[in-house]
Amino acid sequence: MLDPLDPPSLGQPLIISAALTGSRPTKAQNPNLPVTEEEIAAAAVEAAAAGAAIVHLHMRDDQEKVTCDPNRYAKTRDLIRAEGCDVVINMSTGGGAGQTTDEQRAEPVTLSPEIASFDCGSLNFGAGVFVNAPGFLSKLAASMIEFGVRPEIECFEPGHVANGLRFIHDNAIEPPYWFQMVLGVRGGSPGTIQQLIHMVQMLPPGALWSACGIGRAQLPIGVAAMTMGGHVRTGLEDNLYYHKGELATSNAQLVARLARIAGELGRPVATPGQAREMLGIPALV
Ligand code: ZN
Repeated sequence: MLDPLDPPSLGQPLIISAALTGSRPTKAQNPNLPVTEEEIAAAAVEAAAAGAAIVHLHMRDDQEKVTCDPNRYAKTRDLIRAEGCDVVINMSTGGGAGQTTDEQRAEPVTLSPEIASFDCGSLNFGAGVFVNAPGFLSKLAASMIEFGVRPEIECFEPGHVANGLRFIHDNAIEPPYWFQMVLGVRGGSPGTIQQLIHMVQMLPPGALWSACGIGRAQLPIGVAAMTMGGHVRTGLEDNLYYHKGELATSNAQLVARLARIAGELGRPVATPGQAREMLGIPALV
């Protein structure tokens, strides 16, 4: 079991995930946000070159509104691969609160992405409510097994971790277990190291975990996760700024910062191939 209170896990490869777009940010907030399939694919390739082993994708329609359209997901995946980029692809099933149905949210899973998000509970989310009802999650988990998809068990607060443990107990999620702690959403756990430690301590032996902080919590939570032996997510989905008041120029810029810090901390940055091995994902053919 990864002991979060152990000193830094020197030498352990670090998986960096880049959450490129998200469902909420807009180009009006940061013109560098990728929203078309071409822009998202280019951002993925650039983030991978900067050190991301995984890219986490959301799709947008022609009005920049979130969509779960599997054709857009497939097109983006194909554009990334056409560049010869082997980054691990994680497709969101989050949809947009009140904008997408449960059926639409599950559609990307039918593309057999290497990873798909599994939002392990409901919560207030900013001014809205992010609903992940038990029946929806049960169907989604079964679908991920059917299509050979590694679930990324996204937890916005400790109750979501407990819910994930139930799915694991019921064999509805298969090992290796891959958790993503998302801290700092308004309505979820605050973006503090205390919260991160608490949630990580709930994990079963052998579980792999990553963490991301929203907004100003992005860098502190990322560095904490690295020093605790976890993995880390960054990107414009979670934070549009590089420094307070200074917009990030790209997802790759945020990835490169973490890769630099990882080097200083003695954590080699994992390649996509190493990430696949750790997460039990078949090698690309
Ligand atoms: Zn997402």
